[in-house]
Amino acid sequence: MGVKVAKFGGSSVADGIQLTKIKDIIFADPDRKYIVVSAPGKRFDGDSKITDLLYLCKTHMEHNLPYEQIFQVIEDRYVAVALNLGVETDLQEHFDRIKENLKKGCTADYIASRGEYLNAVLIADFLGFDFVDAEGLILFNSKGKLMISETDEALREELSKHEHAVIPGFYGTDAKTGKIRTFSRGGSDITGSLVARAVNADIYENWTDVSGFLMADPRIVKNPKPIHHISYKELRELSYMGASVLHEDAIYPARIANIPINIRNTNVPEDHGTIITAEHDVANTNVVTGIAGSKDFTVIAIYKNMMSSERGFLRRILAILEDFDMTLEHMPTGIDTVSVVISNSTLDGKLDDLLEAFDKQLSPDTMEVFEDIALIATVGCGMSSRAGVSAKLFTALAEAKVNIRMIDQGSSEMNIIVGVQNKDFNKAIKAIYAAFTEDEVK
Ligand code: ASP
Repeated sequence: MGVKVAKFGGSSVADGIQLTKIKDIIFADPDRKYIVVSAPGKRFDGDSKITDLLYLCKTHMEHNLPYEQIFQVIEDRYVAVALNLGVETDLQEHFDRIKENLKKGCTADYIASRGEYLNAVLIADFLGFDFVDAEGLILFNSKGKLMISETDEALREELSKHEHAVIPGFYGTDAKTGKIRTFSRGGSDITGSLVARAVNADIYENWTDVSGFLMADPRIVKNPKPIHHISYKELRELSYMGASVLHEDAIYPARIANIPINIRNTNVPEDHGTIITAEHDVANTNVVTGIAGSKDFTVIAIYKNMMSSERGFLRRILAILEDFDMTLEHMPTGIDTVSVVISNSTLDGKLDDLLEAFDKQLSPDTMEVFEDIALIATVGCGMSSRAGVSAKLFTALAEAKVNIRMIDQGSSEMNIIVGVQNKDFNKAIKAIYAAFTEDEVK
């Protein structure tokens, strides 16, 4: 018998109905022994996430505003779930302790973490599993950085004592001070990945409210095909461009332990979802795994005769960007040209100053600025072994009358990035999607 770690996200644990579904899922497979849970999320459009309400209590507290009513809403939600499920957990003692700590002026991380804590206590009772607190097991250094091997050791040792356990996601402890620290938002995914590694799981199941990844954004492409299988690297390229189902940092712990991650849908458990693994069987995959993009970039094209033989030219560009504390998105180069691609949020109104610095320090012949650019990444590790992929992509865009402002192909030949006008973003994604799904190899 193997071991599976199942992590359930906020919408999967939002109320009694959802918890009944997760119980069915867990008991349908005896390998599902370690369960990681988020705090209750939204039950319907316009509802509040418990984590948001907890942060709100803290903000009210800091501004000397009453927070009791907000906390009461939180209490009521847990009590209603417990009643609904017939669980007899004494939640009151937990609520009282949290309120006491709030009064004493606890940290935002502590209060935010209580959403997962209370939920894990309740769900452990509901399932008849042990509750194993993440406090003292998931360890952070004083800069808030996860101490990955120390965490692995602590989790491994503790979990070896429990045959079945529910572990709250999202938080751990500062190893020095013993204070609660949280990951960034959505961080329960990381807890799940760490637990999977610590118990040498065969698979890390991440249960959410979608059946895995889709080849393109469904708000742009009608009924896009699901992605059944994707490699960690491809996912990185896609998530970087804006596809977010899984927390980025959740990949690393599973990846180093070679544990596949399976994104599943709590509301449609019969769907197989998306499997993420280290390798992708290139010969048997589609050419394109997915298409993703994001808007609002600026391209600065710099031209200078004999640029290619001028020493340190690119280094100077990077140094200027460093002086401006700006990160670079892409830098495609030609013989005498280089384009600097920066997101508008990074530029933050400093475009003119940056151009002035380029002008002074690089003495270019000319510079051209293209604003309102969208970047679109077409990703697939099947690309490198097949000819004519870029031709197909560019033909599709030409036929859709989309003007391409910039092209960048990653050195791994796993992605082709094109820059188009913001206004052409949807049209371009639709055209690329159609070109690579109409006469698919498989
Ligand atoms: N509850 C936290 C959040 O809302 C963490 C998580 O759900 O993963 O961000």
